[in-house]
Amino acid sequence: MKCTLVVSVYNEEQVLEQFYGEVTRVAAGLDCDVELLMVDDGSSDGSAAIMERLAAADSRVRTLHFSRNFGHEAAMLAGIDHATGDAVVCMDADLQHPPALLPDMLRAYGEGADVVTMVRRERADGGWLRRLTSKAFYRIINRMADCSLEPNASDFFLVSVRVAQVLRTQYRERTRFLRGFIQTVGFERRSLAFDAPERAAGQSKYSLHRLVRLSLGAIASFSKAPLRMGLYGGLAFGLLSVALIVYSIVMWIVQRPVGGYTTLIIFLSAFACILLLVMGLIGYYIGLIFDEVKGRPIYILKDDNDRC
Ligand code: UDP
Ligand code: MG
Repeated sequence: MKCTLVVSVYNEEQVLEQFYGEVTRVAAGLDCDVELLMVDDGSSDGSAAIMERLAAADSRVRTLHFSRNFGHEAAMLAGIDHATGDAVVCMDADLQHPPALLPDMLRAYGEGADVVTMVRRERADGGWLRRLTSKAFYRIINRMADCSLEPNASDFFLVSVRVAQVLRTQYRERTRFLRGFIQTVGFERRSLAFDAPERAAGQSKYSLHRLVRLSLGAIASFSKAPLRMGLYGGLAFGLLSVALIVYSIVMWIVQRPVGGYTTLIIFLSAFACILLLVMGLIGYYIGLIFDEVKGRPIYILKDDNDRC
């Protein structure tokens, strides 16, 4: 059995050697072959050179280099695409995903889990703002999405080769949220809690701006609720406008307001209601197109032998 460790690297020259040292120390105690697949996400520092040096000295190390920075998610997916192991583990290069936990993850895999999600118990970095925003994000996405995602799930996870194969062939979307994908593909899933330590060295590459972008992308990729807002708004406004129309007709009978007032109210209310409903209807169709474009699998077979 062979395990591929996919590591996304973006300007990590300060930690790379320490990371390699830690991983090889843990790998020595594992009873499986290890492939260390490092994906250079367009680093502009000395990371690429360090990776090449490690690959030249150790045949277990393989490298991929992006032509520019494509982002963490793209790097993980490239690693999964090129992995040759029976199990694929994605992890960060900054030692916030402790390699010491690999034996636990592989044990869960050995016991039959196809997806092992690592759930952060406490994050040492980022402070209260990051904790609060992360909590809010999972609350929002779980309320809006059709599926439920585990709060605090990290980009530290293991997938079996059959799940990796599903990701390679059936989840090829431009706006991705891998953490979400692996939780919705089915199969046997296991969660393990872990404490994320501080970054070993260097700085976080996720600015607030990038985090917001990732979160909005994740919500849009898992929920069509915002598209339905026009429909709900139209229905609510429809009820309101019926009341308004009845009221203005009664007023017209009893009070005779200025000429044109009643017509104007009726016309405006009906028009706004129709406009919102039509927008909701267009939103509904856009949602259908969105689903088609994403091309997610209609079903996923558990066993490849079931294919004829
Ligand atoms: N990373 C990447 N491309 C990017 C940003 C980050 O490959 O555009 C890598 C980075 O090198 C690290 C991992 O993704 O291995 C997680 O990034 P970081 O530690 O900066 O994020 P945080 O832990 O602060 O969420
Ligand atoms: Mg980190």
